[in-house]
Amino acid sequence: MGRYTGPVCKLCRREGEKLFLKGARCLGAKCAIEDRAYPPGVHGQGRKKKESEYGHQLREKQKIRRFYGVFERQFRGYFADATRQRGVTGESMLQLLETRLDSVIYRSGLVSSRAEARQLITHRHFTVDGKTVNVPSFQVKPGMVIQVREKSRNIEAFQRSGAIRRAPGWLQVDPEGKRIEMISVPSRAEMDLPDMHEQLIVEYYSR
Ligand code: SF4
Repeated sequence: MGRYTGPVCKLCRREGEKLFLKGARCLGAKCAIEDRAYPPGVHGQGRKKKESEYGHQLREKQKIRRFYGVFERQFRGYFADATRQRGVTGESMLQLLETRLDSVIYRSGLVSSRAEARQLITHRHFTVDGKTVNVPSFQVKPGMVIQVREKSRNIEAFQRSGAIRRAPGWLQVDPEGKRIEMISVPSRAEMDLPDMHEQLIVEYYSR
């Protein structure tokens, strides 16, 4: 399983928006977007070129892909799966991304970022319905229960009491018991996302 290991703040600067990839730092004054809200690189502060329609769709696709921390091939797979589902393709794709195990754990507020969730999952600290799962892309379904393994409760990441953020209504979280239950698949309105236009991604892949 591959993962991006480069500088993550550059990704936010490239997209011109906070993608919340670094946990607590994203909420403080040290956020790179606060003082360098221009694209990285030597031409970052140069004259802004007019963006083509294709360029606009590409940037939107990259933004959402980076927000969820998935690679291109996997992202394309989510789009393909979404096209096979009933309903609006863009929303279905976001639902598939939101209900990845790493994203659900991040949304629960038990960890500070998706990257932290991914690392803890691959280190086998979580169970889903009683079985250890070490695959961050595992799809969580309504009714499934995610828990921190008994043995893992004393590691530093789980020492904080309470949650970092309030969980959305589609998750039921017991921060002390380190337990998350997925109640329902989130609707588009229930997803807390940066300014995103998923329809542009549908257009991008439909070219
Ligand atoms: Fe870096 Fe987080 Fe700010 Fe993005 S939102 S630039 S990851 S600190």
